[in-house]
Amino acid sequence: MIQPQRDCVIAGGGPAGMMLGYLLARAGLEVTVVEKHADFFRDFRGDTIHPSTIRLLGELGLREKFLSLPLTRLSTLDAVIEGERMTLVDFGVLRPPDNFLVFAPQWDFLDFLAREAQRLPGFDLRMDTEVIGLVHQPSPPGEDPAGEEGPVAGVRVRSASGEQQIRARLTVAADGRDSALRKAAGLRPVEAGVPIDVLWFSLPKPSDPPPATLGHLSSAGMVITIDRGDTYQSGLIIKKGTFPALQRAGIKAFRTRLVKAAPVLAGVADTLTEWEQIKLLTVQINRLPRWHRPGFIAIGDAAHAMSPMFGVGVNYAIQDAVALANAVGTELRQGVVPDRTLAGVQARRERPVKLMQAIQGRGHRVIARSTEGRRIVPRAGAALLRLGSPVPRRITARLIGVGLLPEHARTPVAGSR
Ligand SMILES: Cc1cc2nc3c(=O)[nH]c(=O)nc-3n(C[C@H](O)[C@H](O)[C@H](O)COP(=O)(O)OP(=O)(O)OC[C@H]3O[C@@H](n4cnc5c(N)ncnc54)[C@H](O)[C@@H]3O)c2cc1C
Repeated sequence: MIQPQRDCVIAGGGPAGMMLGYLLARAGLEVTVVEKHADFFRDFRGDTIHPSTIRLLGELGLREKFLSLPLTRLSTLDAVIEGERMTLVDFGVLRPPDNFLVFAPQWDFLDFLAREAQRLPGFDLRMDTEVIGLVHQPSPPGEDPAGEEGPVAGVRVRSASGEQQIRARLTVAADGRDSALRKAAGLRPVEAGVPIDVLWFSLPKPSDPPPATLGHLSSAGMVITIDRGDTYQSGLIIKKGTFPALQRAGIKAFRTRLVKAAPVLAGVADTLTEWEQIKLLTVQINRLPRWHRPGFIAIGDAAHAMSPMFGVGVNYAIQDAVALANAVGTELRQGVVPDRTLAGVQARRERPVKLMQAIQGRGHRVIARSTEGRRIVPRAGAALLRLGSPVPRRITARLIGVGLLPEHARTPVAGSR
């Protein structure tokens, strides 16, 4: 079944897709977001909402509503390094009021965006519907001797009610790091080598928990402990590709290794009894050399998979959505978006993405030492960290909390229901 043309169709209801859908509908455009899952409730995928996103929510008039959800606010990111507690990032140095970080389960954030977007007349969310391919305009006769397909003109989707086309002036792949749509568009990411993977699992909080601690780093290993109220969303960093060997060594050996790296978990590690409780995240850093084709662009993880390091993936995906909405809002209302506009979005967003990926790559090399039984920070480096100089703290807060070239919502506001 063919439907009337939309202004924009977005594959994927993750942070990038939902934010883009919200912004375009808020600007009075007709937008459909297609999400293959029936709800947003899925495995842990990152809970961090950074100061730049909190500020953006403020620009959209959603800040206070969002902050009234059950969530955890943190003004510093602390870690225990070689046995010593240190503040690595102090968001308190940023301009108030958006000088803190929020941990909110990603499904709560996406549910929130969906609820707000559904108040806008042009917004259409298709859950439980999978994008299975692209629709192309036919190339004008004689203009395509190579037999290549014409500009992208929408997507083919499959749901319980069958298959159909959703045609649109602009098609956006926001379908995550395994994006099928970018592949269908002939776009291939270039991988950067990554030496680590992460094993994620949930643990009850110890009865006498220490102050919020993002990570425990030492030559015994690195463990992440994200505060989720009664539980820690925990991650053990391992050398890439070594999960099968760990499994062969048994869950008891795994618990021993975990407690050695994070002694604070000694009283709760026993709750890990089966490998089903532990999920492998194959850490990737990659980037598409070209994000767009006529009528089509990839954003978020579909354009550039980020490492979980510094928990910036959600925020970079959202920044892409804002940059794209700002660039195409007016043109979509007038007709087709020229390819040069899409190239401009890539050029604008590629710079901060490249910089952060380079920093993550360096960070991986440091962290990888912990998987080889080496000190994470040389003694001299630890002494510097201990000094807690305000200058590095200001830099880390700005780089991680705000990023290079933060985006601001500039799309006009149309009426709401
Ligand atoms: C275990 C883990 C931990 C992480 N930790 C953090 C963290 O702490 N902080 C942080 O900021 N980032 C973290 N990240 C990264 C973060 O999740 C991503 O960077 C971010 O979600 C990217 O957003 P996105 O919208 O581009 O893609 P995604 O969030 O991947 O969303 C893509 C959406 O597309 C849907 N989809 C896929 N294919 C189709 C299809 N064919 N049809 C329809 N829908 C489709 C998917 O179901 C999904 O909902 C983590 C990731 C993982 C896996």
